Amino acid sequence: MFFSQIIGQEKAKHLLESVVRRKRVPHAYLFTGVAGIGKTSTAKAFTMMLNCDTPSGLDGCGGCPSCRKILNGNFPDFITLEPDGQKIKIEQIRELNRSLGYAPFSGGYRVCVIHKAEAMTGEAANSFLKTLEEPPPGNIFVLNAAEPRDLLPTIVSRCQRVSFRPLKIEEIIAQLTKKTALDGPSVEILARAADGSLGRALRMSESDYLERRRSWIGKLFDLYGCSGAEALNMAVESAKEDRAGLDQPGSGKAGLFDMLSVWASCYRDLLLVRTDTTDRLLINDDFRDQLKKTASGLSFHSLLESFRIVDRAVRDLHRMRNPTLVLENALLNLQKMGEQTGQDIAVRR
Ligand SMILES: [Zn+2]
Repeated sequence: MFFSQIIGQEKAKHLLESVVRRKRVPHAYLFTGVAGIGKTSTAKAFTMMLNCDTPSGLDGCGGCPSCRKILNGNFPDFITLEPDGQKIKIEQIRELNRSLGYAPFSGGYRVCVIHKAEAMTGEAANSFLKTLEEPPPGNIFVLNAAEPRDLLPTIVSRCQRVSFRPLKIEEIIAQLTKKTALDGPSVEILARAADGSLGRALRMSESDYLERRRSWIGKLFDLYGCSGAEALNMAVESAKEDRAGLDQPGSGKAGLFDMLSVWASCYRDLLLVRTDTTDRLLINDDFRDQLKKTASGLSFHSLLESFRIVDRAVRDLHRMRNPTLVLENALLNLQKMGEQTGQDIAVRR
């Protein structure tokens, strides 16, 4: 909850610090960046600093009544709102507006964090826009968004934008080493697969991700020796994976989305191997030999196309298409890519 404990994000911290130094605190912020990189922790640290009786530098003192309540998680003026299902609905914004009508309980600032602000329905966004235009005094809004492009431009223009960057692999390695009992190689695999998100890396470490990952990669390599019928069987089996992946909040299990993300990382690695740019770190370095063997049998074009096929499958699943159909389509196309390259090579010979 202290600014000094937030990993990386120097730019974001610096910006918020200068806001407080100037003593003119804007009432709305847009925190952008993927989930799990410290946006909510920063909002809490900001709340602490704004409400602390005796702040030292950027940090709250940790000892005054409001600091203690924030640290204990029972500060009444830190409120959060998140999607109800897929969307943030108009009723939720109305209820928020009602609670903002009262002055902050602690006499300082009330901070209201809206998670996945881009998930507001059109109605909800318009209603929230009115709140932003005439904010009740003492309230500060923090909008968290991974996809700020999906927000109303009129909302974005009323917010002070604070961007959060993905964490460096070394930063994630250091945290995983400190916070988990995993061995060095496992820590490295998770750090590379986490897309710069410490939150995701930690969720992965608490799930069965590491074992599942090995079997998913094995499946992908197996695909290049099998028939179309076998590929279809594999698709039916794969579709039984948990639909949710570790990207979804509250999901403690590795699932379909994680499987596809592992496959995408394999094609990214295969492209690097194929173009001999392996001086860059492979995400799946522990499979280096098999990656080399597989890449030698596939053309650059088919690898690129395979990457796109996996990407399309992810998008189709987000659109709630039937997982079995999506995977059948994807695996058959991937398997064909392998066969085509085989024929190309035969023709050239
Ligand atoms: Zn304090």
